[in-house]
Amino acid sequence: MKVFKFGGASVDSVSRIRSLPSILNNYNSEKILIVVSAMGKTTNALEKVAEAFYNRDLSKALELFGKIKQQHIEIAESLGAADNNLMQLRMIDFFTEVEWLLHDKPAKTFNYYYDQIVCIGELLSSAIISYFLQTTGISNLWVDVRDVFATDDQFRAANINWEITTSRIKEQIIPLFENTKIVLTQGFIGATEANESTTLGREGSDYSAAIFANLLDAESLTIWKDVKGVMNADPKSFPDVIYIRELGYDEVIEMAFYGAQVIHPKTIKPLQNKNIPLQVKCFLEPDLPGTLIHAKHISSLPPIIVLKQNQVLIHLSSKDFSFVGEEGTARLYNILSQLHIQPNLLQTGAVILQLCIDNIPDKIEKLAHAASQLFNVHIENGLTLLTVRHYQKDLFEKLIQGRSIVLQQWSSETVQTLLTALQP
Ligand code: ASP
Ligand code: MG
Repeated sequence: MKVFKFGGASVDSVSRIRSLPSILNNYNSEKILIVVSAMGKTTNALEKVAEAFYNRDLSKALELFGKIKQQHIEIAESLGAADNNLMQLRMIDFFTEVEWLLHDKPAKTFNYYYDQIVCIGELLSSAIISYFLQTTGISNLWVDVRDVFATDDQFRAANINWEITTSRIKEQIIPLFENTKIVLTQGFIGATEANESTTLGREGSDYSAAIFANLLDAESLTIWKDVKGVMNADPKSFPDVIYIRELGYDEVIEMAFYGAQVIHPKTIKPLQNKNIPLQVKCFLEPDLPGTLIHAKHISSLPPIIVLKQNQVLIHLSSKDFSFVGEEGTARLYNILSQLHIQPNLLQTGAVILQLCIDNIPDKIEKLAHAASQLFNVHIENGLTLLTVRHYQKDLFEKLIQGRSIVLQQWSSETVQTLLTALQP
């Protein structure tokens, strides 16, 4: 059994969706579970709907949702998938699910409504693709992953309940393969025990695919992207990128942690735990080798460059010049864990702690408030975090040329530098 994941960019237009059958036909003797994301930028558009709804701007929410609806209807029609009655009913069901909700007054948290609205993107894309594949003779079964992925109710960052999900995969998914070669479902979403929709965090479809691979004991996971493979830097910021043919799990988990937009950071663990290789391949040129990620430490890697924009440096200094020490650090970590904040860089001094985090205003406000009980708090905005793994001194110096360094940490493999506004 193989698991395939098609991301938003690989299903963002009629022509790209039309290239799926030729890819799948190369594997027609195999059993494949396919995970798809929402089409293109649908998730961003649905986020806007959720925001308008929560700001009680019903007409804006309906207008924005109307556009998303129209786009999906048009794509389904162009693909010839809309002629199917069941397909039409299914789409109408998804649309109504959201429209009913939009007519309510928000009484729960924003994150709750976000998940109820945003999950529709994956449901729509998977339903359209499933029917389209049927019309091209690729029979498949469509599954609503909310009946399979059990999660807690931490909306927008839900955690998988592994016990329930494992038994559902055994009982509900594995038997499907007795009657079909292809099961097609959604990434990124799940549901609570009370049947409320949840999402696993932005770009979470990679993680969903890895969970399926783990629980199905798949022989491999292939993530189909619109690029030739994993690169050593983002080509939007650095023109001379290098494609990397082979990587170890160890490298990729670090790259994802530092913010490389390769794959979702949680993807590696479920694969590593069962030693399942991950292929990153280009759906536009499926014959290219792509990148193989597996349990091998690769020692001769090119410098890997990651830029994280929009960083904030928080300076916490003790109020009476007493040492921050283990007590202050422990209390800070407590606050971070309660607020689910992961620092990107942390520096301790005698009477000061500095931490660099992503600029998420409500989290920063809460953190500043909680920390102000213990420390004087000073916040520095608009910074860029540059991380280079396997750095070469010359290259590194070229990268930071002309920028002022706010904070810097070196280890034998990695250098991290916080800079004032580094433009890509
Ligand atoms: N559609 C979701 C997002 O854009 C999940 C994903 O693409 O992986 O974040
Ligand atoms: Mg995506």
